[in-house]
Amino acid sequence: MQAPVKEEGVVSFLTPIGYQAEDCGYCKDPTTSRRSPNSRACCYAISKDLSVDDYQELIDRGWRRSGTLLYKPDLRRHCCPHYTIRIPVDSFKPSRDQRQAVHRWNKFVLGNAYANNAVKVHPKTRAGKAEQKNNFNLISAIHESEYSNVKKPLEPAHRFEVSLEPDAFTEEKYTLFENYQRVVHHEKPSDISKKGFRRFLCDSPLHRTSRPFNGIEQPLGSFHQCYRLDGRLIAVGIVDLLPHCVSGVYFMYHEDFSSWSFGKLSALREATLALEVGYRYYYMGYYIHSCVKMRYKADYRPQYVLDPESLEWDPLDGGLRRLLDTKAYVSLSRERGSSGDKGIPNKEAIGHRHTEKMSSGLPFPLPADASAAVEGGTSLFGLEIPGVLTAEEIVEKVDINRISMELRGGLVVQMEDLVAWEDGDILDPRSLKGFIAEFAACVGPKVAKTMVVRLNR
Ligand SMILES: [Zn+2]
Repeated sequence: MQAPVKEEGVVSFLTPIGYQAEDCGYCKDPTTSRRSPNSRACCYAISKDLSVDDYQELIDRGWRRSGTLLYKPDLRRHCCPHYTIRIPVDSFKPSRDQRQAVHRWNKFVLGNAYANNAVKVHPKTRAGKAEQKNNFNLISAIHESEYSNVKKPLEPAHRFEVSLEPDAFTEEKYTLFENYQRVVHHEKPSDISKKGFRRFLCDSPLHRTSRPFNGIEQPLGSFHQCYRLDGRLIAVGIVDLLPHCVSGVYFMYHEDFSSWSFGKLSALREATLALEVGYRYYYMGYYIHSCVKMRYKADYRPQYVLDPESLEWDPLDGGLRRLLDTKAYVSLSRERGSSGDKGIPNKEAIGHRHTEKMSSGLPFPLPADASAAVEGGTSLFGLEIPGVLTAEEIVEKVDINRISMELRGGLVVQMEDLVAWEDGDILDPRSLKGFIAEFAACVGPKVAKTMVVRLNR
């Protein structure tokens, strides 16, 4: 049996890891600064081969990656729910302080002498001056101080260059990472390693490729956006370029530049990349409303939040923010009552496996209990995880028998080829069919139909 081959010939291989509770790094105990034990839970998978189309689909269902590890937080049980957010870049309006960060950096790079001479050599018309004052042009402001844009023959104070490079490991990048983790993140030197850096920021499962877009080649895959000042690597933005977005993975800069608001500069640069090369959206990573340090992401507007249940995008406006202030878990479709409880199927069939319901109606409301239940044989379908298809939906939308699996030795078969398993019960996670059906429900129908589940890793 052949593995499904998509247009560009890239097939995603995914290994399900399962559902697990974990300690949370965002809500540490204020007295001991220890991580909150088992207060978050996620569905996990590993992939070393992932198509950009499939990853786009996965992040639009609440997944994200860290190296080759893919995870989808269970928002209803999570102590600090992680909401997927995005900005439609053609309507992005940088705030005053975001614009100022760009101007301040440009002024530093170009220097006073350059600025004074530039006015003499290339005088601005009155209209040009007014235009510059009243209309902030993100694209031209971001590129203004790059060496390729300086007005020759004038020389700026510094030579500033930004390039998009493959996400390969280099000693230069590692030196920067080591400095950033140790000084800016206060990590212990013993916790910082080349292996960790590689695994976290250089080992992407995404296939690097490109597609034509408006006469240019649109790069796709994982890249390092390298910032160099006078030839020295001073910052790197790790980005995933996907069919509909630039997804910011991580950003690091050298401590010498900590006063330049590089967080803002990088966000604006990544949004610019999305705008220029036609990716349409900029994803800044999860928005964690309960974590004050992460709220700055809401300052990039207009920001939209993925409804964890309906998978629609809602503006992160005052109304949604007020809701998030009052309750940890918010799904606007649930609030509106449009989804209500209709997404909980077949309660009769699976009800006996989760009778301990709390007043919220959520079975096993604590991550540790839910994780233990799953370990004890409860079907994932019994957990009512937001964004995970119900047992009924998966049967309706995906032909489980046609899901591809890679066995030991690399042989790819479909579920129906495994005669002995064909009669397995999808509500029994201990049957192969149940295990695969649960995973298909987590990744959604589109990915489930084209992926190969790699059982042997
Ligand atoms: Zn937490």
